[in-house]
Amino acid sequence: MDSKQPLLRPETIAITAGRPEVGADSALNPPISLNSTYVAGGPVGYGRYGNETWTALEVAISALEGGKTLSYSSGMAAISAVFSTLPAGAKVVASDQGYSGIMTLLGTLTAAKKINAKFVKITDTAAVISALDGADLLWLESPTNPSLDIADLPTLIKEAKSRNILVAVDNTFATALIQQPLAMGADIVMNSVSKYLAGHSDVLLGSLSTNDPLQYKALDDARKFNGSIPGPFEAWLALRGIRTFPLRFQRASENALEIAKRLSQHPLVTRVRYPGLPTDPEHAKAKAFMKGFGAIVSFDFAGDAAATDRVCESSKVVTYSTSLGGVESLWERRRRWPLESASVPESLIRLSVGCEDVDDLWSDIDAALLAAKK
Ligand SMILES: *Cc1c(COP(=O)(O)O)cnc(C)c1O
Repeated sequence: MDSKQPLLRPETIAITAGRPEVGADSALNPPISLNSTYVAGGPVGYGRYGNETWTALEVAISALEGGKTLSYSSGMAAISAVFSTLPAGAKVVASDQGYSGIMTLLGTLTAAKKINAKFVKITDTAAVISALDGADLLWLESPTNPSLDIADLPTLIKEAKSRNILVAVDNTFATALIQQPLAMGADIVMNSVSKYLAGHSDVLLGSLSTNDPLQYKALDDARKFNGSIPGPFEAWLALRGIRTFPLRFQRASENALEIAKRLSQHPLVTRVRYPGLPTDPEHAKAKAFMKGFGAIVSFDFAGDAAATDRVCESSKVVTYSTSLGGVESLWERRRRWPLESASVPESLIRLSVGCEDVDDLWSDIDAALLAAKK
């Protein structure tokens, strides 16, 4: 969109991209465009086909991820748009552990014979490659939610593309700040904008970005005719969130590394999953292509499901809640959701580390762990 932007760094892009054109008395921020229809004769025509507030957000996400972006009413709406463009019976290779919404959708579409999902252990690169034969789509999520498994993105994308297989990457946990799947050769990058990009737990939105004009057209049509359009107010809030996204993400990531280290030393924690810890089994693989490790830490509490629930209920600063990527720290026992993969331990807590003071967070977490044990 803006030929100057590739020269800028993400911290600057996040603040400058998607602004209205500058002129005397021009507005700094795009308007919240509340219009279901437009006067005839232009390229948009109707409110389900386009909206200037969406466009401003899409320009900003494109500047961060590369490619051209479409925004959707949620991350799941964006994911559904991708699957809706596949031919009937398409073979989809995906991780056997990932975001529960995607796992559920893949299972439902497979049961209905709309697609044919093949689940693989995503950390086993050779196993993923050998499952690629005859695949139409490789769906990757890395790090995975909530196990923080790492897919070897450069290798898997290259292998899939050499077989002409479509590759889509859910970049929600890593974000464009630490990995850019389109630059690695992926066809589509998906973001749950609800998380880090919007960043304040007040918006549900999703996005897809692609370099391929045919793919863009298919995904744009999917949005138009599935009707999974974002609300202008949500788009505006998400763009406002993006202005501080690099600052928030950096701070939260620093906090996360420190909390992961302290949890590793804690007598009531049996395992910590954070790819930034040198002791994490995924660390070397992650370090080879990621510029950072993000701000989600999952850990196993030394107790049963009920005791683990008590940990989450006992905190005062960290809120017991699902979702992630906001300024505020949240945690939950993932298996409280019946749809979560059975491979996720009953005592696993997913902690979305926010931007609070790290010592305040640690005191709260330590006290909650001790309170639950009593
Ligand atoms: C939350 C999430 C989604 C779904 O996004 P919504 O905006 O909640 O629809 C998809 N993938 C990952 C990794 C997520 O964390």
